[in-house]
Amino acid sequence: MKLRFELFASFTALLMAAMMLIPSSAEAKQLKVVTTLTDLASLAQEVGVEALAKGYQDPHFVEPKPSFLLKLRHADLLISVGLDLEIGWLPPLITQSGNAKIQPGANGYLDASQFAEILEIPQGKLTRAEGDVHPLGNPHYWLDPDNGRRIAKGIATKLIEMDPTDQAYFQQREQDFEKRLAAADARWKAQMAPYRGRKVVTYHRSWPNFAKHFSLDVVGYIEPRPGIPPTPSHTIELVNLMKRENVKLLLIEPYFDSKTPNSIASMVGGRVVVLLPSVGGKPEVTDYFKLFDYDINLLVQAFQETK
Ligand SMILES: [Zn+2]
Repeated sequence: MKLRFELFASFTALLMAAMMLIPSSAEAKQLKVVTTLTDLASLAQEVGVEALAKGYQDPHFVEPKPSFLLKLRHADLLISVGLDLEIGWLPPLITQSGNAKIQPGANGYLDASQFAEILEIPQGKLTRAEGDVHPLGNPHYWLDPDNGRRIAKGIATKLIEMDPTDQAYFQQREQDFEKRLAAADARWKAQMAPYRGRKVVTYHRSWPNFAKHFSLDVVGYIEPRPGIPPTPSHTIELVNLMKRENVKLLLIEPYFDSKTPNSIASMVGGRVVVLLPSVGGKPEVTDYFKLFDYDINLLVQAFQETK
């Protein structure tokens, strides 16, 4: 467990919380909400919502900062991804925050995975001892707009429970979000329609929900198992698979070393595309809508250029 506090080194600005459910802080609510990932902040969109991790960080391995503790200490509600995604960094912070409200099981702790469709739930026994960082199912579930809608609704319900006087307000914001998301999703699906069934390889298993929603076929992974770095023997198998099935695109997350992906790409005559798994992965990707806009535009361009 990495708990190397850089005391006073990085008392950084708050992460952006693009105001999606709630447009302005003028109507300031008293609730203080913290999420682990930017994606949840973007979906929660509460006044005062802050994310702990940066959008360009591997969400499995976020380095805790003292500012995290300060945020947690004063939070009324902590929203996490769950499914052990944050297990390497969040539990000690929650304990050390000394904040009784946000301890797991308390009223101010919300695990967003309960609202989402979860894929790749292991059959039988699988433990982290085997090095797999997805022991409870795939935790990258926010990369499906249908799950985004479900999560936003779940968060709105929770906020209403905690602050019933503002029920109408939260409901109205949530419905507005749903409407805008439905319109955007129709556009995204239309953009992706010509590429239904296209085969791709990804670095980490970040994209099963995305692939299901947009009908992509993920045929292999650069990691032999989630969280396990590439090995020469696995890489050779992957190259053979890609050649056999004529797969040209390698989708990688921005926080992985591009050396192996690049060499695979050159061996199969393909190309590497750096997709963003999180809001804030690039400065211009400031909310949940822009995340899909960014990834889909990049994918469409790559599909067009590889066939
Ligand atoms: Zn993962």
